[in-house]
Amino acid sequence: MLTMGVDIGSTASKAVILEDGKRIMARQLVAAGTGTRGPAEVYKKALEEAGVERSQITRVVATGYGRLNFAQADRELSEVSCHGKGMVFLCPQVRTVIDIGGQDAKALLLDDWGYLDHFIMNDKCAAGTGRFLEAMSRVLDVQVEDMGMLSERSQNPVSISSTCAVFAESEVISRLSSGETVEDIVAGIHVSVAKKVSGLAVRVGYRPQVAMSGGVAKNRGIVRAMEQELQCEILVPEDCQMAGAIGAALFACQ
Ligand code: ADP
Repeated sequence: MLTMGVDIGSTASKAVILEDGKRIMARQLVAAGTGTRGPAEVYKKALEEAGVERSQITRVVATGYGRLNFAQADRELSEVSCHGKGMVFLCPQVRTVIDIGGQDAKALLLDDWGYLDHFIMNDKCAAGTGRFLEAMSRVLDVQVEDMGMLSERSQNPVSISSTCAVFAESEVISRLSSGETVEDIVAGIHVSVAKKVSGLAVRVGYRPQVAMSGGVAKNRGIVRAMEQELQCEILVPEDCQMAGAIGAALFACQ
């Protein structure tokens, strides 16, 4: 049986095709989210990669911020359930999932069988999300993909005290003009994001194994800063950004 999961996020669309809920036949990502060409494109590319027609897919489940507007789906499910399920598929020993996406951050606690126990989410404020890091990268004139590497070169991270994304932007500009290095400022930004997101993990009652999902988990600097804040090791599976789509494809098997 072939199933498809499509995760339509605020900034990226992801699609996965699974065979019998076990083998990944296709994984595609288009860096364009809900309301763009992203969802239709990622869907088409996933079918092409697996070399199958829509009629061969038993069920398509959509998840993510834009899941309600995806006509090709048979069913839609919340991203919280899908991220939990997808992360258990990628690292079975996970009990706490920290997901940082483009527009929100969440901490999920799973029970001993890998089922969702409860979760806490921040979708009210840009600080502690991928959007915040993207805004900071623009101010610093660096690529968001390079921020992890830049922070690793930092000798003396600056402290970013503003908890509001708009004020933090002004603070970064003033740090730049007072001669702080880009590396130290990026490292400071990572600490500020980690402080915000680790608060969610503390409130959810995090326990090992902790793992991160979402596109921001690809930033090693963020992961390291989170490890420092939580004082524990954090796993990041290779397919961290595909976790929601994998979870949706698994639910599509049921
Ligand atoms: P959403 O589902 O909300 O669209 P994702 O989980 O797909 O979010 O993550 C998107 C975020 O991940 C964006 O803010 C993007 O800048 C960030 N991101 C993607 N790839 C990388 C990377 N290689 N390094 C750092 N950040 C990344």
